[in-house]
Amino acid sequence: MKIIAIGRNYTAHAKELNNDVPEKPVLFLKPDTAVLKDNKPFYHPNFSQDIHHEIEVVLKICKEGKFIQEKFAHKYYEEIGLGVDFTARDLQAEQKAKGLPWEIAKAFDHSAPISNFIPKAELGDYHQLHFKLFVNEDLRQEGNTQDMLFNFDAIIAYASTFFTLKKGDLIFTGTPAGVSKINIGDRLIGFLADKELLNFEIK
Ligand code: MG
Repeated sequence: MKIIAIGRNYTAHAKELNNDVPEKPVLFLKPDTAVLKDNKPFYHPNFSQDIHHEIEVVLKICKEGKFIQEKFAHKYYEEIGLGVDFTARDLQAEQKAKGLPWEIAKAFDHSAPISNFIPKAELGDYHQLHFKLFVNEDLRQEGNTQDMLFNFDAIIAYASTFFTLKKGDLIFTGTPAGVSKINIGDRLIGFLADKELLNFEIK
């Protein structure tokens, strides 16, 4: 499986990192070795001193497709969950400054903790899904999928132009504002529509 992630999909987050608001979705990939499941702890690697949390709504692809039209995209995901797109911001800044790819900052081992997935039918209107991330007691990030620049179906249509989507692939749909550095000893707790789906420690 692969992870397709979208950057700069919430205006306030794009602006907090001094990025322009994109005209097309900004896509990048993470390999299967990025996945971290079952609320297992994340062991902070030594190669970065500035890893940021990015809480995101995640779609699980349920069947193979390519060149998917936006109007049919909803048929390609039946379950929705939460994930954290861990980002080594210091490495990313170095790569961006040189015009180089982001993989070492975005796609390293366990850079994609994911929750269990919930059938979308149980989530009500998933185009207006509220989600949030606490770090310890502090509410750090809060978003609503209605504020995405590119909605789920637009992302799937665009991504499937370049990459065949396969059953089990995951799509990270972007993070709202409030990203910040994680520290060893922190506990990250994520809610999707008031269901606590993520709760894990940084070690
Ligand atoms: Mg992200």
